[in-house]
Amino acid sequence: MPAELACFQAACGARFPITEVIYTCPRCGGLLEVAYSGPSMPASTLRQLWRSRRLNESLLDRSGVWRYREMLPFLDDYSTVVSLGEGNTPLLEAPGAARWAGLDRLAFKHQGFNPSGSFKDNGMTCGVAQALRLGMRRVACVSTGNTSASMAAYAAAAGLEAFVFVPQGNIAFGKLAQALEYGARTFQVEANFDQILALVRTLADRLGIYLLNSVNPFRIEGQKTIVIEMMEQRDWNPPEWIVLPGGNLGNAAAFGKALRELLAAGLISRLPRLAIIQAEGAAPFYNLVRRGHGPLEPVSNPETLATAIRIGDPVSWPKALHELRATNGLVETVSEAEIATAKAVIGRCGIGCEPASATTLAGIRKLRAAGIIGASDDVVAVLTGHLLKDPDYIYRYHTGSLCTPSGQAIQTVYANKPVAVPCDADRIAALIAG
Ligand SMILES: *Cc1c(COP(=O)(O)O)cnc(C)c1O
Ligand SMILES: [Zn+2]
Repeated sequence: MPAELACFQAACGARFPITEVIYTCPRCGGLLEVAYSGPSMPASTLRQLWRSRRLNESLLDRSGVWRYREMLPFLDDYSTVVSLGEGNTPLLEAPGAARWAGLDRLAFKHQGFNPSGSFKDNGMTCGVAQALRLGMRRVACVSTGNTSASMAAYAAAAGLEAFVFVPQGNIAFGKLAQALEYGARTFQVEANFDQILALVRTLADRLGIYLLNSVNPFRIEGQKTIVIEMMEQRDWNPPEWIVLPGGNLGNAAAFGKALRELLAAGLISRLPRLAIIQAEGAAPFYNLVRRGHGPLEPVSNPETLATAIRIGDPVSWPKALHELRATNGLVETVSEAEIATAKAVIGRCGIGCEPASATTLAGIRKLRAAGIIGASDDVVAVLTGHLLKDPDYIYRYHTGSLCTPSGQAIQTVYANKPVAVPCDADRIAALIAG
């Protein structure tokens, strides 16, 4: 079966050619997913093929996304793919973080090692590949951060015109800086996320712009490779838990789809459980799962310092809910103080991450304390973004001036304040001696 776009709404089930320029089901408005029959090769052949590609010099074969292209068979021609060397991110053992959370061992899959510093690159290389194959010359997204940074990078590399729309005054500086530096036309709009999305949809039709928002099903395809690469790094031995932050829930959707497809292809023999962690102030998915029935009720004023997951109305929730059930997963929330402390602990492992990523470690500690995760459980947490994405947060943390969105001071357990000293060796030596 060649790749198609399939409506995710089971009651609809409509299918469309892979080359149709649509983002949701034209019939029912449901989410779309890329559907195809699994790879035709046996698991052992695939494993060997993927491993051998690492040794090639071609960027396509070395890419941590396109190396696994048998799991992403939506293109007929890979020669136009634009890779910036995405994926290939390390799986890092972190004994300090494990100890803090109450685990014997813990590994971080660090997606901040991507070219633009977040996992969005895994998906964006696929989204941009699809834009090129459709003959589109312009791409756009509405984003408060990493999506725009990533899209701007890949669009520039592909010679596409990029338009980034950001809600006024709602963005971490490192990310906006990237969009500007990569040359995207950036519009700050005085409206909320949903209003801007409606605006951009109108513009997209009018101006022939391909949308690369998180609802784009090709981005989800690329994000599957985070899990595929993780399994390869673990010699195809799945952990018991994969822990990830939940914002728009695209990653939750991608991870679940990847796991189901790996199982069906015989590449893994069982499914890990997904643990999705949300910030307390932006936890509509947590509320939905706790309530036990849908639809999702949006949070009208989502608030968290972890701006990458400050999402009140996550578009991919139906997929995420499906994957949560398929993997016997769960959702947890963590406070701003828990995120801040967990982030500092990750920093002190020499690893570091942006605030949204640290929800994972904060969530693990909470689930461990509740006895849901066992001390000897095999756990991988996905760090979604690079430390330097949000230096303002870090400086505030270490100087004791970090406040919650409602203005409460956050206790900074691991504050590491710079010390002003005179240019005097004796005085500094005395300070160091304690
Ligand atoms: C986008 C993003 C998230 C949220 O991922 P979703 O797929 O929207 O749930 C988390 N962390 C970082 C760093 C991100 O850029
Ligand atoms: Zn439909």
